[in-house]
Amino acid sequence: MSTIAFLNVPLRGHINPTLPVVAELVRRGHTVTYHTTAAFAEETAAAGAVVHLYPGDGPPLAGPPTPVTLLEQLARTAVELLPSVLRDLRHIRPDLIVHGAACPWGHVAASELDVPAVSVFTTMAFGPGAPSPTRPSAELLAKALARPRSLLGYARARALLARRHRTRGLPLVDLVNVRQPLNLVFTSRAFQPGAGSFARTYRFVGPSVGARPHDPAFPLDGLRAPVLYASLGTVFDAGPRALRGFATALAPLGGTVVLATGRTDPAALGALPDNVLARRFVPQPDILGQAALFVTHGGMNSVNEALYAGVPVLVVPQGADQPQVARRVVELGAGLSVRPGDATDATVRALARRLLTEPRFRQRAAALRTAQRQAGGHRRAADEIESRLRTPAPADEPRTKPSQEREH
Ligand code: UDP
Repeated sequence: MSTIAFLNVPLRGHINPTLPVVAELVRRGHTVTYHTTAAFAEETAAAGAVVHLYPGDGPPLAGPPTPVTLLEQLARTAVELLPSVLRDLRHIRPDLIVHGAACPWGHVAASELDVPAVSVFTTMAFGPGAPSPTRPSAELLAKALARPRSLLGYARARALLARRHRTRGLPLVDLVNVRQPLNLVFTSRAFQPGAGSFARTYRFVGPSVGARPHDPAFPLDGLRAPVLYASLGTVFDAGPRALRGFATALAPLGGTVVLATGRTDPAALGALPDNVLARRFVPQPDILGQAALFVTHGGMNSVNEALYAGVPVLVVPQGADQPQVARRVVELGAGLSVRPGDATDATVRALARRLLTEPRFRQRAAALRTAQRQAGGHRRAADEIESRLRTPAPADEPRTKPSQEREH
C-alpha cells in the first residue's frame, strides 16, 4: 500500500471534491496525508486523512481575487509555505503527491522531492473553450500594468521561489493551471467545452460527490415541494440585498425556498416570507436531491452537483470562472443565466418560472445527470491515482508537456 500526500489551497470549492477521493483511497488501504488549515481539519480527518496544518493562519486566499492579485498571492504563499511543507513531506515520504491545479507549491514539492504527481482541476480544464484566467495574454498584461504593486510582488515572489526551490516545469505565469502527466478534472466530458481537444493526460472523472458529514440541525425532512434552492457559494459576498431579492423572487413559486447566505448573516436580510429557510451554510447535495431549481453563482462545484442531481440552474455569475460556466450551462440547455445587475426580483422570478414550467430544461439536466454519473466520480479518480502509482513517469519526463495522444 502507498502513501499519498494531498496539497491544496484551503478553500471549500477546492477541497470538497477531493475528500471523497481521499476516503476512497483510505478505504483501499492507502495512507493519505492532507495539508490544510484548521477550518477544514475536522472534515479532512473525518475523510480518513492524516491532517497537516499549514503554518500560521494558512495561505491568505480569502475573498474573491482578481487574476493579478491571485497570482501574487499564490506565488507569495508558495514561498512562505514551502519550507514547512517540504519538512513535513520529507518525514511523510509520499509515493505520490496529488495537488490542486491552482496549488503551485504542490508542483514544486513534487519536483524537489522527485515524487510523481497528479494535478486535480476543480474548475473546468483550461483550453480554447474555457481559457485560464491567468494565462499569458494581452488582457492579463493590461490588468497587471494597472496593478503595478501586485505585479512587482509577483515578480519578487517568483524570483525568490526560483532561487530557493526547483521550479522547473512550473508555468511562469499560469499558476491556476499547473499540470502534471496525469490531470483529473472533476466534471464530465459532456460538460467540458472542447473535451475532444485535450490530451490523454486529462481524465474527466466527473463530479466527486461523496457522503458529507450529516447536519442534524438542518430540517431536511421538513422541506415542501417544489424545493427551490439559492446559494452564491462560499467565496463571493453579494450582500443582503441580492440574497433577499432571491428569497422574495422565489417565495411565490416554491413550497420551501432554501437560501444559503454564505458570508452574509441571515439576520441582515430582515423578515423573509414564511416559506424561506435562510442559513449561512446548508447541506447542498442533500438539498439538491430534493430541489426543482437551483439559483447559483455558477461555481463549478455547485453546477457539477446540480447536474449530478439533474436539477436545472439559473446562474447569476459573480466573477472568476463563473461567466464561462454560465455560458456552458446555457449552451447545453440545462439552465439560464442572468447578470447580477439584471437580476431584479421580476427577472429572477420570470426566469425561475420558465425553468420550472418548460420541460426541456429538466430533460437536458437529466441527460447531463447521466453523463455526470457515468464519468465515474471519486472511485474513478482513485483508480486513476492508483494507475499513476503503478506507472510513475520517468524522472526526466517533462511534467507539463501535454501528450499528443487523445483520451478515448
Ligand atoms: N456548499 C455547501 N453548502 C453551502 C454552500 C456551499 O455544501 O451552503 C458547498 C457546495 O456543495 C460546493 C462548495 O461548497 O461543493 C462550493 O463550491 P463552488 O465551486 O460551487 O463555489 P465557491 O464557494 O468555491 O465559490
